Amino acid sequence: MGELWRTCFIDCTGHPKVPDPHGPLVLVNPVLLHHSGAEVGREGCLSLPEITANVERPVEIAVAFHDVEGDRQEVEASGFEARVILHEMDHLDGVLILDRVRSLALDVFARKNRSSR
Ligand SMILES: [Zn+2]
Repeated sequence: MGELWRTCFIDCTGHPKVPDPHGPLVLVNPVLLHHSGAEVGREGCLSLPEITANVERPVEIAVAFHDVEGDRQEVEASGFEARVILHEMDHLDGVLILDRVRSLALDVFARKNRSSR
């Protein structure tokens, strides 16, 4: 009673940019333990369906979290899967990709064909 759960769900299964996905991950109260590298990649967001944006993220991460049973877990992820995890963790803090771009003029793009997404 009265516990705050910050929860996000990630599943990169089948994504062409994630050759070795962790499968479905429910992250309860995730905390970024470690990150290394930096890479700019194009991201979209269901909260901002009209645009995509170039966002710099770490290449490799380690995240501690609790699973739905309440047990502490850690996951290491890299590349696109790390990007997805960090994107969703940003949502828990109210941070959107527009808050992450270096330049609103140069790094934000209108989606060419929304209906295909
Ligand atoms: Zn999003």
